Amino acid sequence: MNHSRDLSRNRPAAASADPETVHGHRGLQLEEPLLFEIDNPGATGVDLPAPGEFTSRLGTMERRGGIGLPSVSEPEVVRHFTRLSQKNYAIDMGTYPLGSCTMKHNPRLNEKMARLPGFAAAHPLQPESTVQGALELIDGVAGWLKELTGMPAIAMSPGAGAHGELCGVMAIRAALDDREGGPTTRRRILVPDSAHGTNPATAAVCGFAVDAIPSDGRGRVDVKAFADKLDDDVAGIMITNPNTCGLFEPDMVEIAELIHEAGGYFYCDGANFNAIVGRVRPGDLGIDCMHINLHKTFSTPHGGGGPGAGPVVLSDALAPFAPVPWVVHGEDGFALVEHADDAGDAKPFGRLKGFHGQMGMFIRAYAYMLSHGRDGLRQVAEDAVLNANYVMARLSDVMTPSFEGPCMHECLFDDRFLKDTGVSTLDFAKAMLDEGYHPMTMYFPLVVHGAMLIEPTETESKRSLDDFIAVMRDLVARAKDGDAEAFAAAPTTTPRRRLDETAAARSPVLRWTPEDRTAEAAE
Ligand SMILES: *Cc1c(COP(=O)(O)O)cnc(C)c1O
Repeated sequence: MNHSRDLSRNRPAAASADPETVHGHRGLQLEEPLLFEIDNPGATGVDLPAPGEFTSRLGTMERRGGIGLPSVSEPEVVRHFTRLSQKNYAIDMGTYPLGSCTMKHNPRLNEKMARLPGFAAAHPLQPESTVQGALELIDGVAGWLKELTGMPAIAMSPGAGAHGELCGVMAIRAALDDREGGPTTRRRILVPDSAHGTNPATAAVCGFAVDAIPSDGRGRVDVKAFADKLDDDVAGIMITNPNTCGLFEPDMVEIAELIHEAGGYFYCDGANFNAIVGRVRPGDLGIDCMHINLHKTFSTPHGGGGPGAGPVVLSDALAPFAPVPWVVHGEDGFALVEHADDAGDAKPFGRLKGFHGQMGMFIRAYAYMLSHGRDGLRQVAEDAVLNANYVMARLSDVMTPSFEGPCMHECLFDDRFLKDTGVSTLDFAKAMLDEGYHPMTMYFPLVVHGAMLIEPTETESKRSLDDFIAVMRDLVARAKDGDAEAFAAAPTTTPRRRLDETAAARSPVLRWTPEDRTAEAAE
């Protein structure tokens, strides 16, 4: 089949000015069609002898035709997936300054531990007596997380931060129902306007109305505005600390007292725990629950949608409602409580996930905890904050930091420095791609205009930060010199140029059908 024609179909119009190559490859960056498009009927990766005589036991369920899988040889399959993998930017390739995401190095030691056959080959349905080590490890991670947060209980099973939020808010609802002896009459959850989108989404999914609390001029929760909203209709508040502007919320204790007086619960979004791990125990601030993204603070890999892990620590008030399963120290070692009937006085709200949580992530997180130790984890927080402040200090004279004073683990700029240049935050980010940098988080948080949120994490060296800063300063200078056209055309060196990201998100084409090829042949 004619690859070059197929590929031009995918290429956006903006790319047409590029030097054309026969197949659309550029340098050693190779174009990659869909596996279905390289289908070569009859090709195969394995030669199996034809089966002998046999009688099918499938009866009427016997397959009648082909199932439409593409035919390709083994090297073609290997190349296809290897090329695709190389189109993925990764923390192992370079600086990944994506704010709010804590893209830190994933130590290889973690991977080595996760691949130990005793862990990697264990099955969740094995008898407990044969997986004592795995249960002990889950218990060990739980113990560290409770210690680091100063909280008495934990639910280990949630599979991501957002899933942890779901767990926490379901526990809050269960506690309210229990107190009120029926479905709670409290309808609202308060969420600051700077919150990560998952916070209001979680509250809404759990059936609550979201009531936004404005930020004050310092980028923090406006405590007075919060207090004015409190009444017996409020189920709880969700606050991220450090918040999504990269700032520490200083009024946590007061907020905790006020929400508790009003009969509500305090959810803390712990996605930014990396900035305070080993330095602040959120439990001391009066919170009732908090999820911890193991794939952020505890260095398990993320990006591309997972796998993550979002254990949730719980206060004494919410602990009885934690979902099954959990690990207990039984008479004969470790055991799992899997059903509400075996939960004693506890009233678990149910189960969130098949089996026990993301075991592979627990192993990686545990390796990270044990290899860093108490002092090492504390230094993680200190270095992450130092790195972010270094970037902010070195860029403050040419870019516009959104809030005064030092930041925590990430620094927030807005687009005031681009005023009258004709260059937008989006253009700026696209120009970074040509310089070999994954852009920072853009247009989030929503509370500042044209936001640029940079989180270097503790794993970037001073040299890599200096390189990044030099590129940023150069781009700022080019924008201010009136190079708007070049910015509008960026990126020019990537496999794809500017895509219609909205259309891609709103009407994604997720399925290839044979008709696609027929339609093309007719063109
Ligand atoms: C990452 C993040 C989340 C969501 O966590 P996931 O693991 O991606 O579901 C929630 N809140 C904040 C502040 C985050 O940064």
